[in-house]
Parts: sequence; structure tokens; C-alpha cells
Amino acid sequence: MALGERHLLEADGPESKCSACGAAIIWSKHEKTGKPNPIDAEPSDDGNVLVVGERYTIVPAAERASHAGKLRKSHFVTCKDAASFRGGKA
Ligand SMILES: [Zn+2]
Repeated sequence: MALGERHLLEADGPESKCSACGAAIIWSKHEKTGKPNPIDAEPSDDGNVLVVGERYTIVPAAERASHAGKLRKSHFVTCKDAASFRGGKA
């Protein structure tokens, strides 16, 4: 097994730190597009992002109650320096 594969299998949300604000984040991929996005490591009461393994999904409002305590927010939303993610254009 290649090293890269092993890393993927072990990853239960690869934790990292935001290079802009230093907050703990999880790099996760959208379940359909596979596009990686930074997700807050800490769950939030009004979050809408459910991380499952190395993928995340956006939970519709009607289903959020059943995932209480496990929902997070996209770090794009919460980062105070999010502009730096987007090529400097606010
Ligand atoms: Zn940040």
C-alpha cells in the first residue's frame, strides 16, 4: 500500500490550522464535487456542515436537529481573515 493511501485511510478529518487566523480547522472535501474546503474543527450550535470521514455535506435546515452537537461551520464563513482565502478580493 502506498503511503498516500494509508494516510487517506487513517484520516478522520485531517486537522490543520488556518494560515490566516490560526484557528483549528479540518480540510474536508465536498461529498459531490470533491472540492476541499476548510471546516471549523469546533462544532457550532448554528453550524450546517457535517463531516463524515474525509468528506463533508451541507445538512438542510430541517435535518439539523438530528445532528445536534456535530455540525460545524465552513471556515470561510467564520474566519475573520477569510479574504486571504479568496485571492485577496473581498
Ligand atoms: Zn481563519
